[in-house]
Amino acid sequence: MHLRVSDLAVTRSGRPIFSKLSFTLSAGEALALTGPNGAGKSTLLRLLAGLLPMSAGKIVLDGTDPDTPFSEEAHYLGHRDALKPALSSVEVLTFWRAMLGRPALAPRDALDRVGLGHAATLPSAYLSAGQRRRLSLARLLVAHRPIWLLDEPTAALDQASEAMFGDLVADHLTRGGLALIATHTPLPIPTRTLSLKASA
Ligand code: ADP
Ligand code: MG
Repeated sequence: MHLRVSDLAVTRSGRPIFSKLSFTLSAGEALALTGPNGAGKSTLLRLLAGLLPMSAGKIVLDGTDPDTPFSEEAHYLGHRDALKPALSSVEVLTFWRAMLGRPALAPRDALDRVGLGHAATLPSAYLSAGQRRRLSLARLLVAHRPIWLLDEPTAALDQASEAMFGDLVADHLTRGGLALIATHTPLPIPTRTLSLKASA
């Protein structure tokens, strides 16, 4: 699998955020997106997730089913945890597993993997910020998607959870996945880096 992004440009409310952005990423590689607040890291991830239109450029993904749109090959985790407060952790993951297709780990196994096995039936509203983030990360494990688009995934994680996150990504890369990770702090895995400049 190989991702080639060339000359990508995006405008938001008429304002150019970035242009002529190009990079490539191959199976087993992670790319850290860095740059100051407002540089366009979240914008780039949302665009790749199919949530924002591009104004120019090309995104080509080789080595996957050509009939599957790019956004359906990708897991997108925004920097806010998308959790329904009244649903338990296991219900949240059951929903995502059905919604995303290509099921992988069972919800309870995914919760064990992120250290939330004890909280499986608690409403997600009762979880701490770090636990909510771990529940969001468990979503990556309940459905197979080869591209992970992660927006500041380690925010709110303690040291042990950050190491657990590193293991999740390393396993994903070993299985031939790709990851693009916006971050302000060093990541616990080796990555290449794409540094976005402040937008005018
Ligand atoms: P980063 O994630 O690097 O901090 P963002 O991608 O969130 O940056 O934002 C890039 C720029 O786009 C910022 O200047 C931000 O204010 C602007 N922006 C974000 N959302 C919108 C929107 N809905 N409409 C217009 N501009 C937006
Ligand atoms: Mg951001």
